[in-house]
Amino acid sequence: MLNSYYLSSRKSHDKNTIVNLGSVDGKAVIVGNGKPVIIAGPCVLEDEKSAVNLALKLKETGVNTFRAMLFKPRTSPYSFQGIDKAGIPILKKIKQITGLILVTEVREIAEAEAVAGYTDVFQIGTRNMSNFNLLKQVGKLQKPVLLKRGMGATIEELLCAAEYVLAEGNQNVILCERGIRTFENYTRFTLDISAVPAVKELSHLPIIVDPSHATGRRSLVLPLAKASIAAGADGIMLEVHEHPAESKSDPEQAITPDELKVFFDEFVSSTMQYKH
Ligand code: PEP
Ligand code: MN
Repeated sequence: MLNSYYLSSRKSHDKNTIVNLGSVDGKAVIVGNGKPVIIAGPCVLEDEKSAVNLALKLKETGVNTFRAMLFKPRTSPYSFQGIDKAGIPILKKIKQITGLILVTEVREIAEAEAVAGYTDVFQIGTRNMSNFNLLKQVGKLQKPVLLKRGMGATIEELLCAAEYVLAEGNQNVILCERGIRTFENYTRFTLDISAVPAVKELSHLPIIVDPSHATGRRSLVLPLAKASIAAGADGIMLEVHEHPAESKSDPEQAITPDELKVFFDEFVSSTMQYKH
């Protein structure tokens, strides 16, 4: 019987894949080298001033990769849908002023083509993990792809989705565990921590964790970020907002830049030293 995935498995490639996202101030940002990458930023970019100020603040903390989201796939059509292509000049500004690596979610190939020159990583969100045409199309663009697990997808289905990108010759795939739907509803989703070591057994691809969308509750975000790093995650993606309650999207789960700084100083830096 043919395996459902091969290129994303350790059978095709035993050594861990390392993904280079680009460089910040001359230093390469690498995912999968044992030093967790911290991706942080707002759920969605709101305006130039707040985006640039937050990016500068996060950079001071030590963050090198920024959530630069313009297109939001929202459950309700009445929720804020993002600033769309009007935000492209903001991507340029953030890059120009901070030099940070930018991650931008795309929902269709036209969006990917529109931002290709201004962002460094394409994110495919949970709702598009099974949009196989989009996976093939972003695979052709050769830029790193951050592929989030579908909220109703198994680990095997996630690795099959990655296979679509890899099959186009794009090896720069980072997986992301962001919580799955279970009967528990205190949290927004249930973070499947076991996916981290399970993916490491099955696949050579790096895997990061998004505890913000997984929990939907700011008080739970950092404890699960720590758990994820302890489980071997190659990075963490966190939603951060200067005034969380005023965030135009997902206000309940954003942490403040100060909370991130404490996490960084007390936990991430020591983890990095521990690993090296
Ligand atoms: C996001 O990271 O902006 C996002 C929408 O996440 P998810 O696709 O996991 O819901
Ligand atoms: Mn969000």
